Amino acid sequence: MGSSQQRVRVRVQYVTTTATSTPNEKGKPYMQTRDDILIVGGGVVGAACAYYLTGRGAKVTVIDKGEVGHGCSYGNGGLIVPSHSFPLPMPGAIFQGFRWLFDPTGPFYIKPRWSWQMVRWLLRFARCSTQKQMHHAVDTLTTLSLRGRALYDEIGESVTDQMHLKKYGGLYPCRTTKGLDHAVFEMETLRPYGVEGRLLDKHEVLEIEPAITTSVIGGTYFEGDAHAEPLSVVQTLLRLAEEQGARVEPKTELIDWELSNRRIDAVRTTRGTFRAGQFVLAGGSWSPQLARPLGLNVPIQAGKGYGVTIETFDPLPKVPVLLNEVKVGVTPRENSVRLAGTMEFGGLDESITERRVRAIVHGARQFFNIPEEPRVVEIWRGLRPCTPDGLPIIGRHHRWENLTLAAGHAMLGLTLATATGHLVADLIGGDTPCVDPRPFRPQRFC
Ligand SMILES: Cc1cc2nc3c(=O)[nH]c(=O)nc-3n(C[C@H](O)[C@H](O)[C@H](O)COP(=O)(O)OP(=O)(O)OC[C@H]3O[C@@H](n4cnc5c(N)ncnc54)[C@H](O)[C@@H]3O)c2cc1C
Repeated sequence: MGSSQQRVRVRVQYVTTTATSTPNEKGKPYMQTRDDILIVGGGVVGAACAYYLTGRGAKVTVIDKGEVGHGCSYGNGGLIVPSHSFPLPMPGAIFQGFRWLFDPTGPFYIKPRWSWQMVRWLLRFARCSTQKQMHHAVDTLTTLSLRGRALYDEIGESVTDQMHLKKYGGLYPCRTTKGLDHAVFEMETLRPYGVEGRLLDKHEVLEIEPAITTSVIGGTYFEGDAHAEPLSVVQTLLRLAEEQGARVEPKTELIDWELSNRRIDAVRTTRGTFRAGQFVLAGGSWSPQLARPLGLNVPIQAGKGYGVTIETFDPLPKVPVLLNEVKVGVTPRENSVRLAGTMEFGGLDESITERRVRAIVHGARQFFNIPEEPRVVEIWRGLRPCTPDGLPIIGRHHRWENLTLAAGHAMLGLTLATATGHLVADLIGGDTPCVDPRPFRPQRFC
């Protein structure tokens, strides 16, 4: 048999231990590429890519159209939650979503508008809402989220202190049998993939979080979850990247790409032209429009959500709480509490619908002693970058030799950012990927 006909099986070993690959570790192989790298997007994903790439000696520039970290990574729930490793498309999601559509205060909404991209996205979403796809997505997301969670620990305590990272776990209290059944179903689904939860009776729920005032019947608790200040995470990662040599350019908006054959040569921005040998597109919900001039169809739809930060109340929650029955997350902060929720599909529209903000506060009030008119510190909205199969898009695109995509992290951007940054550095640097990159490859949508 001629050598061209021989099939060589290459077994790739993915690094799943937590010990080996912190960027500054002595003996870490440096990047095989000597190219300058330009990262478009200074959200948590772009920041993590910058951190891990500079950690391996790469010369990196990060550009952002606004202040870094002021996109979707600014006012989110701050939860680092392997326990939430579920995709948006789940069995029954279409039916449930359809029912919520007619509730003006419901947690899910699709703004009626004609968009061919949205129709295609919804059709793909419907195809992915199966039992089989859910298990594939949970398997993939837990691998990335557990790796991401471990990487936060590996960065070191003095750094995670600056991110205000706290390891108090994540609590899912329930008031109804249906809610508790669902919480148990989620816990049992996650267990085979290494995410360990505990079933609690009502006394145990109140022991962990005495601030819950309503009558709960039980809940689940995930000790491995953590929470942090999302903006501090971005700022800390970028500061570390700068200390490792990165340049960070805020208020620098990409206008267009300069291309030759199958390569990108430069980007033209509102602050001049930036040349580089490698490009990383980490533009969150803006990635589809940024990729369009490259002839790429990146199927991401923006899922708007709100973060409502209110002044502390009495008794104050100490542990992050996910109220699945009302679809609201409650995160304790230094001098306030953040309530986060809703998923509205309406393109890149960033307007605020006050009745949905009120519905979030109302949902949380069913569990906590939140006053009728709480003192609002800030109302924020962010656009979650959602893919139709519920998995982020991470990897090189076959169409362009020197482009890597890192976007589409939906409800889990903070949770998955560190592992994404590490994986991007592995792929560009030619190292063994820290997780199997195949489920994330951009080509799955071609
Ligand atoms: C209400 C809410 C609660 C959430 N809670 C959590 C949570 O508790 N835990 C969790 O893990 N995730 C959570 N998420 C999800 C998380 O916020 C996102 O997945 C994450 O922020 C996405 O990060 P990103 O870097 O991909 O996008 P972004 O943070 O949006 O960054 C993209 C960047 O690209 C920049 N950009 C866009 N266009 C251009 C251009 N032309 N030129 C240059 N730059 C450009 C933008 O300015 C932006 O800064 C939540 C989201 C919402 C909305």
